[in-house]
Amino acid sequence: MHKVLIIGAGGVGNVVAHKCAMVPEVFGEITLASRTLSKCEAIAAEVKQRTGRDIATARVDADDSAQTAELIRKTGASLVINVALPYQDLTIMDACLEAGCDYLDTANYEPKDVAKFEYSWQWEYQDRFKSAGRSALLGSGFDPGVTNVFTSWALKHHFDEIHTLDIIDVNGGDHGHAFATNFNPEINIREVTAECRHWEDGRFVETPPMSEHRGFDCPDGVGSYEIYRMYHEELESLTKHIPTIKRAQFWMSFSPAYLTHLEVLGNVGMTRIDEVEYQGQKIVPLQFLKAVLPNPGDLGERTKGRTCIGNIITGLRDGQPKAVYVYNICDHEKCFEEVGSQAISYTTGVPAMIGAKQMLEGAWRKDGVWNMEQHDPDPFMADLNAHGLPWTCIELTPEQAAAFQVVP
Ligand code: NDP
Repeated sequence: MHKVLIIGAGGVGNVVAHKCAMVPEVFGEITLASRTLSKCEAIAAEVKQRTGRDIATARVDADDSAQTAELIRKTGASLVINVALPYQDLTIMDACLEAGCDYLDTANYEPKDVAKFEYSWQWEYQDRFKSAGRSALLGSGFDPGVTNVFTSWALKHHFDEIHTLDIIDVNGGDHGHAFATNFNPEINIREVTAECRHWEDGRFVETPPMSEHRGFDCPDGVGSYEIYRMYHEELESLTKHIPTIKRAQFWMSFSPAYLTHLEVLGNVGMTRIDEVEYQGQKIVPLQFLKAVLPNPGDLGERTKGRTCIGNIITGLRDGQPKAVYVYNICDHEKCFEEVGSQAISYTTGVPAMIGAKQMLEGAWRKDGVWNMEQHDPDPFMADLNAHGLPWTCIELTPEQAAAFQVVP
């Protein structure tokens, strides 16, 4: 039985707290901490009601690593599950080293003042984690996270060499608002307004945001959606760790209404991340926008429909061309019934719990800093089926693969 500290009491923190509480044989004592104590207490009350388990709560400013280290020591946690914001990744990693604790997150570090996210800052911690005998797992959400494991699992069981990877993230859900983001609006908008990058023959190629798109038919009646190519952080680690990949792309579905709102907000300056002076006060327009948009954590109650996230992978097996599609479909309303959250938070929080479980049980615990695809995919894939995110793998014929295959 282990002690864990979850940092961040947003939509994802809610799911992680519930799912850890549902596996008491691994997660013996759970503390949930965030900047706002009342949010932790509200989640703890729901966890108690749904699972009968008590979880402890605490207030912490995770931008302050000394304060965070003190809380880690006080709780006796052997693992921190960081589901605060990407801005806190490094201070929490520092706190883990200081207090002697393992680390897990779901999104890579991003400085507050530049919309640039990459692994370099966290990969730099490799030697420090190794020599301290501590383990860090980066990106244990759905994408990044499950999509990395889908890729390494396909490589282990279906391919000798992977040549192309298309990660397709469709949210077929409808929350009934004119405009809302499914997770933290500031992080979400920074991500979708960034330049697109995809991997092509050994290097990243840059194209304007949202400039490449096409229709995609999801399996099992989820529907047909327009998907847009964009940069996503797992492309960086997957192309580094699986060097046979010739082309890797990430695609996400957006509704026409979402894109129109985003365009207008961008045109009028509301997505800016630099400070502007307003009535003697400095404000960051994107942070102000977050304050007036619906809270993603409140969308669960009104969201209907399903998500469909998966990888189309092609390559060689025994010298022959082969293609597979590995995917998960998740129902927004069922997630809400189970843990009081919509499927976006659910599909992030469940893999965070499963990654934590692999680390605590030892299967994924090695000293240093690791991405998901660097561990054995099998126990993680088995746990996805056992804990609410069942997956399907279908083999595609060369003709189907060609039809599925996204050619820029
Ligand atoms: P929310 O904005 O809903 O929640 C973030 C939480 O972090 C809030 O409770 C906030 O506290 C807390 N927080 C922020 N700053 C601090 C700080 N300095 N100290 C302590 N707590 C802090 O975000 P989500 O739950 O939607 O997302 C959480 C993370 O999951 C993000 O990093 C996001 O990028 C990632 N994510 C990953 C996905 C994946 O598939 N890999 C998909 C979706 C999200 P308070 O409310 O008290 O201010």
